Amino acid sequence: MIYLDYQATTPLAPEAREAMLPWLSGPEAMGFANPHSPHRPGRAAAAAVELARDQVAALLPPGGRVVFTGSATEALNLAILGCKPRRIAVSAIEHAAVLDTARASGAEVDRFDVDGEGLVAPNAAIPAGTDLVAVMQVNNEIGTVQPVAALAEAAHAAGALFLCDAVQGAGKLAPPAGADLIALSAHKLHGPKGVGALWIRDGIELAPLIHGGGQEGGLRSGTLSPALCVGFGAAAKLAATRREEDAAHVADLWLRARDRFAGWTLNGSAEARWHGNLNLHKPGLDVARLMSDLRDLAFSAGSACASGSGRPSHVLRALGLTDTAAKSSIRIGFGRYTLSRELEDACARIVAAAAAQGV
Ligand code: PLP
Repeated sequence: MIYLDYQATTPLAPEAREAMLPWLSGPEAMGFANPHSPHRPGRAAAAAVELARDQVAALLPPGGRVVFTGSATEALNLAILGCKPRRIAVSAIEHAAVLDTARASGAEVDRFDVDGEGLVAPNAAIPAGTDLVAVMQVNNEIGTVQPVAALAEAAHAAGALFLCDAVQGAGKLAPPAGADLIALSAHKLHGPKGVGALWIRDGIELAPLIHGGGQEGGLRSGTLSPALCVGFGAAAKLAATRREEDAAHVADLWLRARDRFAGWTLNGSAEARWHGNLNLHKPGLDVARLMSDLRDLAFSAGSACASGSGRPSHVLRALGLTDTAAKSSIRIGFGRYTLSRELEDACARIVAAAAAQGV
């Protein structure tokens, strides 16, 4: 099996797994202790959580605090609902965790369109009365890198807060400059599933979504999992250490893969892009058939989120693709642990299987 779905989730780093194990240990070692208990094993667990918090914070700008959540989806819900906005502006290509939460907030929602390259204009007009602007750093379906620093400045000039979904960029790119709220997910940066974080700029007050024991400074009640937090911290530390090496590896993989797809069209900008995302379309391609012909390749139809629903992806539609073109798109995602020969082999097989369809 060759894994090519790095935007859906990433392999757990062996270093993150090792760091987690003591916090999953049995009765004697007491790694299972509650990090909110005042006894010695509880304090040891709390110290491990705080170290992890610092490691995650090191991926983020200074001048804020990290609140652990159960996922980036939860972090985005906390950011959007917690600031009680009356008018929100979002990009048309945000993840459902932003689009659906904005809708559910009851606020008036405005959208920034993207151009044919999948980019929001850096000088997009922000409607009067907007109190929250949300634009992602790197799109999960097409990999485009948005001009978030300029948009954060524009949001502030309009009197709004700026929320950045940095799930696909964290640990790979510099943190989004100027953001007030930043959402992250451990499993997209080689950490475990089941833990995310919201970074909150100092001075910003949010209302909690989850009430109870008052953990996480009252913002997110519920007992933290030291194992998950520690795995997130270890993965964040590793990402920071390996950032240049990982980026160089991905750049090399991109060149090897892109060259194999002569006659296919790239979805989204080739330059303003995280190059571990190769989203392509080929007119007439039957993606379901392609995937069933290549069952030992784990790649995705256009978007993992949209692929199960049968609906064409809202991101590909926002680029201007017709429903048919969107449905003949595939996403190949690769990264740190992808070997160049397995990627080249997978790409050659995809191209051959598409040619066998006569497209
Ligand atoms: N935002 C983006 C851009 C994503 O790619 C994802 C996951 O697919 C999420 C948010 C949600 O992350 P989580 O799985 O941690 O809820």
